[in-house]
Amino acid sequence: MEIKITRTECPKALPDSSTLGFGKIFTDHMFVMDYSKQEGWHDARIIPYGNLSISPACTALHYGTEIFEGLKAYRTPDGGVQLFRPIENARRMNRSAKRLCMPEIPEDDIVEAITTLVNLDRAWVPNDPGTSLYIRPFMFGNDETLGVHAVDHATFVIILSPVGSYYKEGLNPVKIMIEDEDVRAVRGGTGEAKCGGNYAASNRAGDRAEKKGYSQVLWLDGVERKYIEEVGAMNVMFKISGKVVTPALSGSILPGITRKSIIEMLKKEGTPVEERRLSVAELAQAMKDGTLEEAWGCGTAAVVSPIGELSYKGEVYIVNEGKIGELTQHLYDTLTSIQWGKAEDPFNWTVKI
Ligand SMILES: *Cc1c(COP(=O)(O)O)cnc(C)c1O
Repeated sequence: MEIKITRTECPKALPDSSTLGFGKIFTDHMFVMDYSKQEGWHDARIIPYGNLSISPACTALHYGTEIFEGLKAYRTPDGGVQLFRPIENARRMNRSAKRLCMPEIPEDDIVEAITTLVNLDRAWVPNDPGTSLYIRPFMFGNDETLGVHAVDHATFVIILSPVGSYYKEGLNPVKIMIEDEDVRAVRGGTGEAKCGGNYAASNRAGDRAEKKGYSQVLWLDGVERKYIEEVGAMNVMFKISGKVVTPALSGSILPGITRKSIIEMLKKEGTPVEERRLSVAELAQAMKDGTLEEAWGCGTAAVVSPIGELSYKGEVYIVNEGKIGELTQHLYDTLTSIQWGKAEDPFNWTVKI
């Protein structure tokens, strides 16, 4: 793929690492590429970061034809920069594209676009503990029509944002509310695609949980509202009687790369893992009889997020005395050491750029 590069004439000052937060500051450049049914993907370019110009009739604004990805570039102890399993993000982006009838992009081109852009804005990969450069590739339907139709024109963009440590005050267990009214997704819907619409649908429950003092909701399946699916925008795992149990990918669950990596890690270490249906009744029973040992969410942003409290229909359950479990901590430490290049990567997950 040929990428035309136009450098900014007014580079911004690099931000102070202590002020980063999440997704508020953007680097000097962005990647943009256009698609039309006639020409295919064309005009791959890196240009100064700035506003896009789109028609008010742009289909994404009306009908939600938008998909995205999220991954990070990490600063290693030797000053290098590496990515974590970027090919997995490229593959998932294409699976999301298929689901929304949007055009696919050759996986190697997606990775090349990411790599070229990150390399250009390499100085923006922060260095403080826990910080990273968040990479947000996204694609939106860009037809100028109010007709409802599969996508004939699309735009693919990558923006970069230096982000602070998710755990400024250390790895803290969070309070989770099991949501029994709203659902995030149903089988046959778009739950397994990483698309913007799923997020719009989850805002109401998230908002309600926040008002009650919970940090996220735990989603149940959309048909019976009995089976556990995900927690907020993370996959979820439980340690019950020494075994790790996580909901099987049923069609309405987002196939997380962190989830997949943890499962591979656990298998290698000889910890039993079960991917299966887990009902909220089974979980409640495990909480009552004390066999629920640990619970955590997992995703790129937080890596591993311990769950200290779960509430369901007004009952409150404390997990592991509200403390971080041993396995939760181990998974966090092992995965982050690989991602930040502080430990061997026996899986070959990281890609130096
Ligand atoms: C992105 C995402 C995840 C986590 O996926 P990772 O690849 O591990 O970052 C989980 N659930 C939802 C709904 C997501 O959008």
